[in-house]
Amino acid sequence: MGMVFKSRETIWVIIFSLILAVIKVNIIDKNKVINDQKNNMKTSQAVTEKPKPRPEKIAYITIDDGPSSHTSEIVEVLKENDVNATFFMIDGNMKSNKEAVKEVVKEGNSVGFHSVSHDIHKLYESPETTLNEFETCKKTFEEISGKKSKLIRLPYGSKPYMPEESYNKLMENDYKIWDWSLDTEDWRSSTDQIINNVLYYGRDKKEIVILMHEKEQSVNALSYIIKVLKERGYTILPITEEDSPKNYWNKNI
Ligand SMILES: [Zn+2]
Repeated sequence: MGMVFKSRETIWVIIFSLILAVIKVNIIDKNKVINDQKNNMKTSQAVTEKPKPRPEKIAYITIDDGPSSHTSEIVEVLKENDVNATFFMIDGNMKSNKEAVKEVVKEGNSVGFHSVSHDIHKLYESPETTLNEFETCKKTFEEISGKKSKLIRLPYGSKPYMPEESYNKLMENDYKIWDWSLDTEDWRSSTDQIINNVLYYGRDKKEIVILMHEKEQSVNALSYIIKVLKERGYTILPITEEDSPKNYWNKNI
């Protein structure tokens, strides 16, 4: 009787242990699944949070003196080629071409300012006049587009004309000054010459800031320039305020 009881007890212990074991395995499995899910989420989060690696070769196409009657066509060429550029606009031209300003922004291009007067004597009369011209541009742009910008291109470049006081004033007010490393000389060149200038001066450069203007010959050269840049392995990007400004003062261009 004692033996029977004992073996019955043993059977129950074994059955009970088995049940426990099954439950435990289930729990571990579930935990494993949950942990795996957590890990997967972490991995996918890490992937989305990770900043995009900076392309090895970057070309910034910058277009000065607009907007103008050519802006729409320029925006169209950029769009067809699936790239964006940076437009440095003059205050009066924004006011007389409001739709063009909106179109530039709508298609994902960036906008910076190119002064009110485009006259170095007026612009650099005092640090205050320098600042005022760009504050005026900023206000005009915001009224038209609802957007803000701190990007600047000085007429004729930031050196040698800009006095240090004006430079400091712009820095105090958080403006980002951009010069160029490749002058297409488009304002005095034919379409072929513009293309040749890009082909020649663009050799062996990892990052280039290309200076163009809103001229008919420039519009005609743009598509081919983009093609050449892509073939040479450049990623064509618009300038953003997050990019560290490349200019002759920073000596990084
Ligand atoms: Zn200009």
